[in-house]
Amino acid sequence: MAAKQQAVSALILTCLFSALLLQTCRTLAEELKWDENGYVLYCPCMGRFGNQADHFLGSLAFAKMLNRTLAVPPWIVYRHHTPPYTNVHVPYSEFFQLEALSAYHRVVSLEDFMEKLAPKHWLSGQRRAYCFETAAQRSADKKSCPMKDGNPFGPFWNYAGVEFDMSVLFGGISFSAYYQPQWMKKFSPSEHPVLAMPGAPAQFPVIEEHVGLQRYVVWSHKMVKEGEEHISTLLTRPYVGIHLRIGIDWQNACKLLKSGDAGPHFMASPQCVGYNRQTALPLTMTMCLPDLSEIRRAVKLWVKKTSARSVYIATDSESHNRDIEKLFKGKVKVVSLQPDSAQMDLYILGRADHFIGNCVSSFSAFVKRERDVHSLPSSFFGMDKPGKVNHKEEL
Ligand code: GDP
Ligand code: MN
Repeated sequence: MAAKQQAVSALILTCLFSALLLQTCRTLAEELKWDENGYVLYCPCMGRFGNQADHFLGSLAFAKMLNRTLAVPPWIVYRHHTPPYTNVHVPYSEFFQLEALSAYHRVVSLEDFMEKLAPKHWLSGQRRAYCFETAAQRSADKKSCPMKDGNPFGPFWNYAGVEFDMSVLFGGISFSAYYQPQWMKKFSPSEHPVLAMPGAPAQFPVIEEHVGLQRYVVWSHKMVKEGEEHISTLLTRPYVGIHLRIGIDWQNACKLLKSGDAGPHFMASPQCVGYNRQTALPLTMTMCLPDLSEIRRAVKLWVKKTSARSVYIATDSESHNRDIEKLFKGKVKVVSLQPDSAQMDLYILGRADHFIGNCVSSFSAFVKRERDVHSLPSSFFGMDKPGKVNHKEEL
């Protein structure tokens, strides 16, 4: 290891000091070696950013469990209401540092995999898809993995430039650690070098064991720079960041709670009610869809507790900024970003002095996990202390 590091340092020095060698160094740095232990490829084909992020953590753990390099997919951004009115595939490294993942496990971007490795090692004409037998049931011949059927599946693999030639089906197995030996036995890297799957080899929401992998998801330098600029121009610390997940799709989702048979585990809710079904706390309507009075109550409470001088509102629809401003008679600055960007909202929420999130939302969950990594405090609407029921006197 030390010798290797020295060699790398020597190489870097050579690169720095010799303009002549620059081209060589560039080539060396770009050269990717094929991993004989194999690869995992998948489409982040379920949900938007929060869901994709949950799935990413589980997939990273899955690749490590099989000792295969993970081909890190781009984020799928759905731009159906604003130009270009179609899916946009954003390389992982636009938002986060790919290198930071290496502290946990071997990764390569899907783009690099396709550009630099696939032409030599994963030849077109011999590309196999891997999926559950149950998934193949949906195909016409009932034997093919539905890799490119519909949106976002087709556009994703087209972006990667992949056609599939064969399918390999499996059953009686899941992505959990319990099945590690079966995976290894069924799919040896020599016979199955590239496991390409139609969806993430992971659960939603992310399982408790994998929550901590968030520490390897580190914002890109570009995001940090932009984010810090916004924070310093828009906000005065201390600031409270809030996530309002209250739009029409969410109102409909939360209706399922009203019937009462959804139980405490609903989408991302294990993050606040607890992962254990037996001991999980009740999930209330207020936690899923806080009304204006709950939003006011919680913001007032945390602004007071933290002596906040500003409030940052991230929202999927309305910001309620006037109502929130009124609470503080002009003494607290209330801001949201226009035009809004999901990732910039996540960044700014992540850096707040206190965060109030939505327990059921995986978008909020991303922020909560990141803040936990850095020991920053968070609460939820309807739950001031995560893992504890709100008491009447606090309401
Ligand atoms: P979930 O549905 O809340 O679990 O999270 P997802 O990320 O899967 O889907 C919600 C999507 O709505 C996000 O990815 C964003 O595109 C959008 N969204 C929700 N809340 C916000 C917000 O506060 N700011 C911005 N910019 N977008 C949001
Ligand atoms: Mn969603």
